[in-house]
Amino acid sequence: MCAFAQPGLYLLFKKEQSLRKMFGWTGNILRVNLTEKRSSIIPTVHYAPKFLGGRGIASRIYWEEIPPEIKSLSEENKLIFMTGPFCGTIIPTSSRTTLVGKANFKPKERYLSSNAGGHWGPALKFAGFDGLIIEGKSIKPVYIIIENGNLEIKNAEKLWGLNTLETQIRIQDELGGEASIACIGPAGENCLETGAIITGDGDSWGHGGFGGIMGFKNLKAIAVKGTGGVKVFDPKCLLETVLKANRLISRRIDENEPPAPHRGQMLKNFPEKTNFPIPKGTTFLLEDEAKSGEVRLGLTACQSCPVGCAISVDFKDHFVPPGSVRCADFGGWMVSEAEFYKHKGLWGRTAHWASRTCDLLGFNNYEFCDKWLYQAYKKGLLPDFFNSFFGSQEFWEQILPSAARKDGAGKIFPNGGKPFLSEIFNNSDDPEKKLKAIQVFYQNWNKDGTVNYLAEGGEIEPEYASVLQVILDGLGETGNRAMAHQIYNPSLYHTAPSFPYGTPEFFNLRDSVGQDLWGLENLDPKNSWSIRMAVWALNEVIICNTLELCALVFPLLYSAYTQDHRGDPDLPSRFIRPLTGENISQEELHNVFAKRILTQERMILIREGRTSDDDVFHDHVFQLPWVKTWLSKEKAISFLKDFYESMGWDRESGIPTRKVLIELGLGDLVS
Ligand code: SF4
Repeated sequence: MCAFAQPGLYLLFKKEQSLRKMFGWTGNILRVNLTEKRSSIIPTVHYAPKFLGGRGIASRIYWEEIPPEIKSLSEENKLIFMTGPFCGTIIPTSSRTTLVGKANFKPKERYLSSNAGGHWGPALKFAGFDGLIIEGKSIKPVYIIIENGNLEIKNAEKLWGLNTLETQIRIQDELGGEASIACIGPAGENCLETGAIITGDGDSWGHGGFGGIMGFKNLKAIAVKGTGGVKVFDPKCLLETVLKANRLISRRIDENEPPAPHRGQMLKNFPEKTNFPIPKGTTFLLEDEAKSGEVRLGLTACQSCPVGCAISVDFKDHFVPPGSVRCADFGGWMVSEAEFYKHKGLWGRTAHWASRTCDLLGFNNYEFCDKWLYQAYKKGLLPDFFNSFFGSQEFWEQILPSAARKDGAGKIFPNGGKPFLSEIFNNSDDPEKKLKAIQVFYQNWNKDGTVNYLAEGGEIEPEYASVLQVILDGLGETGNRAMAHQIYNPSLYHTAPSFPYGTPEFFNLRDSVGQDLWGLENLDPKNSWSIRMAVWALNEVIICNTLELCALVFPLLYSAYTQDHRGDPDLPSRFIRPLTGENISQEELHNVFAKRILTQERMILIREGRTSDDDVFHDHVFQLPWVKTWLSKEKAISFLKDFYESMGWDRESGIPTRKVLIELGLGDLVS
């Protein structure tokens, strides 16, 4: 029997459930207070449908419950997990789940949302809850089990110190399998701002240091398991709509075409296809090893996803525990790996080892694999000791485990690049070194600490050097990377053999999409100066994160299945009526719901001290060779002002006006 089991909660839940069950929802959000070991239930109907789902509802709860002065590592901070109305159904990619809270984030702590796929969100719904609010702080390590409306808070001292795989195995053994578990590893236990919350074999809420906040609360894991479901208004119609959508999302024009290539095959010629600093002709080692049986590669997917964008990797020699990776997980690792192994012309093993080790230690992969570390090495900012073996497996073996424990060689950057570079800038006696540190810093992060893809990625991937990216990066929008990809360079091209990516036909297609949706003559990233497109794209980020669809798939502008390769950007709204019985058009999703949620989030950030100055990049960014030819600071500011105005925010300050708050039903935020 657990120490803190609450048998009474189940009865309460059963009684309330019948009163509250709405189409698409279980009707209940569970609140767990770790200090007092008590729980309560909030009816989902308090927030839905006005705030639609995931990010919309979670940000509303944040507004109501987390005042601006609250510190990230404090008992008063909360972890607010929220699914969407589609979650737990067969709607494609609907498994995603938003987490918001006061992020442990440099240079300034702030409201932030993070989003994970996998299976945890649907399992939470099957266990009887649409969302989960974790508050307070336990004195001793605990873990939570939520099963069919029942809650247990259990002692986790025996789990403390285990990696994320070991933790999940132990809890699965206890529960007889079939649970879905979100947990932290050593990085989270040590309250690091690089700490992620990991679920399954590699999905994570990585951004915002929420793993470190979970560790601060002494919460090791949240296991969810259940046999419930959500009510569907018109199941037959929903099934038909989903089958049609899955065809559009799937990758073949007709059944006679060969199946999509393996993601490993896609990676094989990666150096030839990209501008990444990887020597051409470098061989993707994992693919060769797969042929010889040294490693098994397969496809793996989040719940209800017909795409399956991750590769599962299982080494015969148990080089690293099996797990899955996405191409983005390889991004920065392979650059540093190629740096060390270039003389051998091979890459793959070390990148995978490092990426998988980050998952096991509970790190946010991107804190180490993004290019800041490579740039710091190239500019001579790392201690000399590292220079002879930078990028090798030995390097990562020394760095990652010790960074998670804050000792040994990795203790110089347990919290990632931002504090490491700030330390050089603030304390070095060498002016040249200081300058290099600040350049690397400004090239990788915006003023608010979110990643700047325009400066960091724009050199090698043209879609990040776009006007759209100016807006998305400037506002610190964390879902920005996928959206720029989706518009300029559809993410699914590499799994669609029939898709004419990179051909004149594709560019004509892209231009015709730009013409229809935003009245643009062409969709060349650097020329598509359009407020209409920026507002549309930002709304789409919000719609994805609120209905909890995957931004690697939606908005579906293109399709390999149709003869003209046009997708169906209105797909999200088509799922709403058969699921809920309500008619909400895509236009309403944009103009009412997304605008309301975005404006609410803007108010949260303004309340926390954000100003329009935070929306403009560091001056250094405008000096970068691949930026200065097309974007000046004046141009960026003028674009931002036009954007504020079109959102109904004050043109100068970027603060939502009283008028727009009232129009959007946010009158209570006015004061
Ligand atoms: S496309 Fe990939 S990340 Fe998105 S839901 Fe599908 S499997 Fe998950």
